[in-house]
Amino acid sequence: MSVKERFDLTGKVALVTGGSRGIGRAIAVGLAEHGADVAMVYRSAEAEAASAAEAVRKLGRRAWTYKQDLAETDKLACLAQRAWNDCGRIDILVNNAGMAYLERFEEITPEHWRRVLAVNLDAVFFLTQSISRRMVEAGIKGRIINLSSKNGFVAEAGLAHYNASKGGVELLTQSLAIELGPFGITVNTIAPGIIETEIGGEFDLDPAFFDYYKEHIPLEHRFGSVEDCVGAAVFLASRAGAYMTGQHLIIDGGVLCEQVPRMQFMPASKLRRE
Ligand code: NAP
Repeated sequence: MSVKERFDLTGKVALVTGGSRGIGRAIAVGLAEHGADVAMVYRSAEAEAASAAEAVRKLGRRAWTYKQDLAETDKLACLAQRAWNDCGRIDILVNNAGMAYLERFEEITPEHWRRVLAVNLDAVFFLTQSISRRMVEAGIKGRIINLSSKNGFVAEAGLAHYNASKGGVELLTQSLAIELGPFGITVNTIAPGIIETEIGGEFDLDPAFFDYYKEHIPLEHRFGSVEDCVGAAVFLASRAGAYMTGQHLIIDGGVLCEQVPRMQFMPASKLRRE
């Protein structure tokens, strides 16, 4: 089989949560470009979801959209049933939808704690449980791809609930890789650094933080784009990624490579940067 064929997703159906915007939309369209039909879940952005579905259809693929607040975890079995019935099968589940609040640990209310954990972790668990059960029954060697974060490995101030949810996604991923491996189902994460989307749109952060942060991104001192996340998803969804499970692909421009950032204290003669 050629390398090109290994990345071909023709005949596969993907379910992407949070497919209406940001990273999820880019992944949905990227999977469709490689031949997959795509179902997308969104919470409220109706027009954006319709536009993402249109982008998939323009590529000659089938598309479905489902409006569902993933925090309502008792409704996810029903969502899985509907999607499975409509699509006929699901080969690839991308648990991408996520959210965050920026607030100090002592300010986090029980409501905010539960909502972040419900959307970012509980929904991943329950949707994967419902979909993987059907994959096993149908004999589908499926792919589960969870959107984690660099915050699943190293914490960041003001995001205790988010950090905990993403750390949970990493260990949940390893747990499911062990239990679903015998059925030929792989489970991996994509762990982005800062990607330019709307997720932090309401964060009340000093703009100086972003310059400071960029300074510490080794790769070109830039934030990532949604397109930077697509190749990893196509790889994990395709035959090219068939022997990889329980792993993470960190897409952060190298920001986690350094412990305490030291570049700015290096003698100028040792720096090649202008
Ligand atoms: P985004 O631009 O804010 O888009 C979020 C998507 O998730 C939207 O489609 C949204 O639907 C959906 N969503 C949010 N809450 C939902 C809920 N309760 N029920 C159903 N759908 C819901 O986010 P993003 O930046 O693309 O992030 C995608 C994933 O990557 C998240 O898991 C995030 O934690 C992770 N991540 C992002 C970054 C980053 O810098 N952007 C970094 C690390 C990890 P609506 O359009 O209907 O609201």
